[in-house]
Amino acid sequence: MSTTTNETSSWYAASAIPGEARPRLTFDLDVEVCVVGGGIAGLTVAIEAAKRGASVAVLESRQLAWSASGYNIGTVTPGFGGEVTDLIARVGHDHARELWGLTQLGADHVRALASEMQGTALTEGVLEVSNTDNGDQLVGRLQLLGESFGADVEGWQVERVRETLKTNRYFHAVHYPKAFHLHALNYARGLALLAERAGVRIFEETPVVSIDPGGVRKRIITPAARMRAYSIVLAGNVHLGTLFPRLARTLLPVWRYAAVTEPLGERLAAAIAYPGAISESSGIDHYRIVDGDRLMWAGPVTTWNGNPRRFASHVERHIHAVFPQLGKVKVADMFSGVTGETVHGMPQIGQLRRGLWVASGFGRQGLSTSAMAAQVVASGMLGGDDRWRLFQPFELVWAGGPAGRVAAQAVYTWSRGQAAAAGVLARYRERAGIRERQREARLAAANQAVRAMQASGQGPRPRPPGAP
Ligand SMILES: Cc1cc2nc3c(=O)[nH]c(=O)nc-3n(C[C@H](O)[C@H](O)[C@H](O)COP(=O)(O)OP(=O)(O)OC[C@H]3O[C@@H](n4cnc5c(N)ncnc54)[C@H](O)[C@@H]3O)c2cc1C
Repeated sequence: MSTTTNETSSWYAASAIPGEARPRLTFDLDVEVCVVGGGIAGLTVAIEAAKRGASVAVLESRQLAWSASGYNIGTVTPGFGGEVTDLIARVGHDHARELWGLTQLGADHVRALASEMQGTALTEGVLEVSNTDNGDQLVGRLQLLGESFGADVEGWQVERVRETLKTNRYFHAVHYPKAFHLHALNYARGLALLAERAGVRIFEETPVVSIDPGGVRKRIITPAARMRAYSIVLAGNVHLGTLFPRLARTLLPVWRYAAVTEPLGERLAAAIAYPGAISESSGIDHYRIVDGDRLMWAGPVTTWNGNPRRFASHVERHIHAVFPQLGKVKVADMFSGVTGETVHGMPQIGQLRRGLWVASGFGRQGLSTSAMAAQVVASGMLGGDDRWRLFQPFELVWAGGPAGRVAAQAVYTWSRGQAAAAGVLARYRERAGIRERQREARLAAANQAVRAMQASGQGPRPRPPGAP
């Protein structure tokens, strides 16, 4: 499987703080903790382990954050990628509440880390908008998240949503006032700097080709050097491949594509009066304003590695459908990254065997959950904290191999179609409702006019009951 990002984003290249190159590992090294993978998960685990006093090294096969970690939309919300009701159905209410609470800690942790960095452009608020008129569901979700889980959420009625986002495609919304978005690549680069400040040694262009996890001192083999460590953390996401096939087989690679539009001028502020990130209830499209008058929009997903440019027209069409008043929108930049999805939709967090840990499979919601994983894994590894056991019900389940990918693509296409159809139906119902109310108003006005004429003796007299 090739997991190469097809293009480097010109928007990220222009807006990011310059990245530093780190050396290859060319000499043998002994550390307490070896982290495999230099994405946001690996870097955050490394920071947390170093802060707890361990000597730590990160080995990255290419460059830090070259994949999804550096090229995403940067929305930080609590929760997992899947539906909270599914989570409750699987582990029960109290367990689900604890897990959800951990993701809130993860989001808070991202905020704290970002406050020590340059260029993260942290901006408050995430609005989860519904494509359908599901007011009852919204109330249920709000009660669950707000009252039961203690989350900071508020419900927005249709009128408020449409005052804020000038489109009839959206109905209600759940607002997360304390969620936020940030510059993803600067966050990842900032993590690397914080890690080094905490004493972590980082090596790029250093693929781990094999590990021997037996014994107290585990052996890690790279092309030019060997390492020994008491603990290894596998944070390689779908790129881990043959290093640990058992783990690789449990992740379905899903490529996500995102666009940055050409500047849209004042038209954009007239259409979107919200500085936070917006996420559609279909669970796929999410977007936000960047540079004051451009849209950064993530939408298409595939289970194969496509050329991002091929999806530009798809994004342009979707933006036009939601905000037709923007006129012709042109995409200036496309980028992609691959996420690892598990069958149960939950990340892989925990200890696989003594001293061999995993922090992977964060799917489309990796910012808060990787920060949470970092704390849970580091404190489990070094502090005797066993919160990682909360993730034990989500065992490593085979993701179906190539057939699984075909099936998943069909499901994505189908659910997108379903969401679109539900949206069309909701808008049809809304228009029909408006027409019905207009008809009733016309009828009432006509009746009132007739009654007024009758009262003044000008109109037709009311017929006596039973008259032919
Ligand atoms: C377009 C897009 C939009 C997204 N939007 C959001 C969003 O708004 N909010 C959000 O929370 N999440 C979002 N995500 C998801 C998020 O980006 C990911 O969940 C997260 O980046 C995963 O981080 P990671 O460190 O686990 O994996 P990765 O970023 O894939 O990093 C894994 C690293 O491990 C390295 N590696 C693997 N094997 C080895 C080895 N053997 N030796 C050495 N190194 C190895 C790889 O080279 C890679 O650098 C989005 C993703 C995409 C693609």
